[in-house]
Amino acid sequence: MREQIMVTRSSLPPFEEYCAEIREFWDSRWLTNMGVKHRALEAALRDYLGCEHLALCANGHLALENLLEAFGLRRGEILTTPFTFASTTHAIVRCGCRPVFCDIDPLSFTLDPKELERKLTKDTVALLPVHVYGNLCDVEAIADFGKRHGLPVIYDAAHAFGVFRDGVSAACFGDAAMFSFHATKVFHSIEGGLAVCRDGETLQRLNDLKNFGIHGPEEVPFVGGNAKMNEFSAAMGLCNLRHLAGEIEKRRRAAERYRERLEGVPGLQLNPVQEGVRSNYAYFPVIFDGYRLDRDQVFARLAEEGIHARKYFYPLTNSFACYRGRPGFDPADTPVAAHIADRVLTLPLYADLSREEVDFICDTILR
Ligand SMILES: *Cc1c(COP(=O)(O)O)cnc(C)c1O
Repeated sequence: MREQIMVTRSSLPPFEEYCAEIREFWDSRWLTNMGVKHRALEAALRDYLGCEHLALCANGHLALENLLEAFGLRRGEILTTPFTFASTTHAIVRCGCRPVFCDIDPLSFTLDPKELERKLTKDTVALLPVHVYGNLCDVEAIADFGKRHGLPVIYDAAHAFGVFRDGVSAACFGDAAMFSFHATKVFHSIEGGLAVCRDGETLQRLNDLKNFGIHGPEEVPFVGGNAKMNEFSAAMGLCNLRHLAGEIEKRRRAAERYRERLEGVPGLQLNPVQEGVRSNYAYFPVIFDGYRLDRDQVFARLAEEGIHARKYFYPLTNSFACYRGRPGFDPADTPVAAHIADRVLTLPLYADLSREEVDFICDTILR
């Protein structure tokens, strides 16, 4: 029997490389609380992303919650999309705000800026768009809207680490951005995340918030939580960052093979390649719309062959059971997102996915 093909497979550095990395702090017994690896990874990320102000976190979700809090967002409405991971919507709600769902662009699946004007109210306090699958949002239109209405733009860039447009990293768009370094992401620190902002004052707030609001040994000005990244995670991040370019190149080859095989097939829709954007090839979504089989049938057929695709993002966050009955949580308000969510599958994609495996997956779909 063939080996199972999972939707993703975490990248890992050579074992010896990771051991050498943790060796450096092992004897010091400094295992967390902004140690030497934490500082080294922040420095390396400043360099890689081209951003001065950033704070490592225990995970992407807490980075996002802390960003919302650092921007003083405790009530009011935040314009966002339901075509995202649970984290985006939950972060808004957990901070005391109300998500107002904009529909998505039918090609990139990112927030459709035309929706912003329609959904704006006197209670709108911020924007939280998502660079879905690593596709960049229409950052100009969104920045323009934010500026005109005096609203901060905070990006969920969890999918967009390693994405650059004309040499500018995804971290540089908006007033702030969050990245996830979860084990399933293109770049990871096992669990981890990053909050990026534009000024030292917000950064100070983020650093305080991630450490119980402790600003100095005898000074606790904020009700913070704990979102510190530990040294073992930071060490993993440092190792993975060295190999990132190679990993993305391998992902590119697999993604391009999918594209060669599936582009132009009637009933299949792929995300168009974005002009001037260097992708990180985080995901390979395919929309089954008018294909011989519907999405769920393809999903089941693939599973029979040991191929594990993912209905990502399905269901939409505005149809989650935990939000049932709340005003504004209705997938019918975002018909494009609802249409895509019912038809999307992300196919297996990771650096070591071979050309033969991609062909086997495509053959199964096309058969
Ligand atoms: C992974 C992810 C998150 C959450 O990141 P964690 O590091 O898992 O907490 C948030 N938003 C999106 C879109 C994600 O894919």
